[in-house]
Order: sequence, then C-alpha cells, then structure tokens
Amino acid sequence: MLYLHDEVSDFSQQVLRTDVAGMPLEWIDYRDAVRLYYLGQVAYTCGSPLFRIHGGFSALSRQQSCIEVNSIVATVGRSPEVAELMDCYVPPLNNKTLFRRDSNLCLYCGLHFPVRDLTRDHVRPLSRGGGDAWNNVVTACRRCNNHKGGHTPEQAGMQLIAVPFTPTYAEYIYLKGRRVLADQMEFLMAHIPRTSPLHQRLASSLFRSGQATQSHK
Ligand SMILES: [Zn+2]
Repeated sequence: MLYLHDEVSDFSQQVLRTDVAGMPLEWIDYRDAVRLYYLGQVAYTCGSPLFRIHGGFSALSRQQSCIEVNSIVATVGRSPEVAELMDCYVPPLNNKTLFRRDSNLCLYCGLHFPVRDLTRDHVRPLSRGGGDAWNNVVTACRRCNNHKGGHTPEQAGMQLIAVPFTPTYAEYIYLKGRRVLADQMEFLMAHIPRTSPLHQRLASSLFRSGQATQSHK
C-alpha cells in the first residue's frame, strides 16, 4: 500500500536525488526512490517525508516492511570525475528549460506569457553568426520576436531586460523540476552561487511568477 504525506498532493511529486556529498543529480519518481531503498543505495535523506510504502510481511519477524520516501534522497557513491564534469557541464538547450530560466517572461517587453505564446530568440541572429547556445538565446513573445526579425537588439532598437546565461548543473536540475517543494528549493539554492543570475531573478519581484501577467491582446 502506498500513502501520501501532507506535503504532497499526488504520486507524481518528484524526489530530488543527490550523491553522497549532497550534489544534486536528478529528479526521480517514487518508484525509482523505492528501488534505491531496496537496493541499499540510500546513504541518508533530507527534507520531509513524501510517501510511505508498506510491503509484504517478513516470514521471520512477522513485521511488515515499510519504506518512507523523503523529498531529498542522497545515494551512495561519488566519483571525482563526475564532480569535475559538472564544473564544465553545459546543459542541453531546449525551450522548456529556457523559458523557465527566464521565468516565462519576454526579455524584450518584460511581460509574462503562457508557454504557447513564447519563442526562442537568438540575440545575435543565426544569420549573423550568432550561436544556438544558452548565452545567445532568450525567451521572447511572438510579437517582439517578429519585430526584431533578423536583427540584433541594437539594430532593432530593442533592449534586453536581463542577460542570457548558461545554467550550471545545479541550476539546470532546478529548472527541470516540475513542482519544486520548498525544502527541495532551499537545498538546490544552497548549491547555486549567490552571484548566479538565477538567484537574483528569483529574488527580484520582476521575475517572481505572477507579478507581470499582462499579455499583448
Ligand atoms: Zn515581448
């Protein structure tokens, strides 16, 4: 039997997996988490309990097995190469995480849009030698993207409200999270340097979701 704790509303809530040193690695679902418990891969847990799973009764002890899955699960093992790789890691670029990096705001007009109305804009257009890379792409609404066309912001007389940046590994994990719980957020933020633009964006009222909800009509 599977039970939910108060902190979660359904079984789709993701669990944050870290290595033994607490480096965030990935999001997993409760099934993966239970598997890690059974395999003895869990070194320790942080955060709050999300799920409780009751299994079969032991023939020896007559006790029912029970696993409590926390919001953050640290697993055994840490290879120095992985840590080194993470230092120079460049996350794959996709619109979903790009829009989340920019908090669903058009970085030209500063308004908030639903995902379907957002586009990926190349600050220096591809036709002018710009790259399809994190530090050259921003979230833009359709109207601003059309207006800018194949020009640079200067040529189009437009100004960016924030500078594009390449997320670090920990930032990318945060951006990929579907519904990040408060304790998971706190944990991830501790791995993101205070100088990170993401920190500043999350702290800034401009980027706080729901602050700017106008859209072009
Ligand atoms: Zn716009």
